[in-house]
Amino acid sequence: MTKTLVKVGDFCPNTSCDDYGKVQSANQHNIIKFGKTPQGHQRYYCKTCKRTFVETKGTLFYRRRTPADEIMEVLALLAEGDRISSLVRVKGHKEETILDWLAEAAEHAEAVEAVLMADYQVTRGQLDGLWAYVGNKGEKKLS
Ligand SMILES: [Zn+2]
Repeated sequence: MTKTLVKVGDFCPNTSCDDYGKVQSANQHNIIKFGKTPQGHQRYYCKTCKRTFVETKGTLFYRRRTPADEIMEVLALLAEGDRISSLVRVKGHKEETILDWLAEAAEHAEAVEAVLMADYQVTRGQLDGLWAYVGNKGEKKLS
């Protein structure tokens, strides 16, 4: 089975890099850990393009038929209150596909939230609404 979701830091997110999007493996090791930001986020360094990036940046969905940016945009629109039915109509994706992305996003809620908040200005409250679609997976359990 192909892994479709990889962690930030597993590949270089710089689209102009020769090693852009190549997941780290025994033969592919252009990414190294590069200390932490003042906010405590892991920083990475790509030896190929000599750029640094932090864990909140980059692409979470990998090797999906739909570009990751577009998946994140759909998730952002959902978080902002768009209905799945209207996104199906406007964006042309199947409802099952969108629900599939959501389920996958929920598995990595923390990383997805970081990108949605940093790159799409989605708020905390909107994120809670997003996870409500997939059975409150992204929320902390109330004890
Ligand atoms: Zn690079």
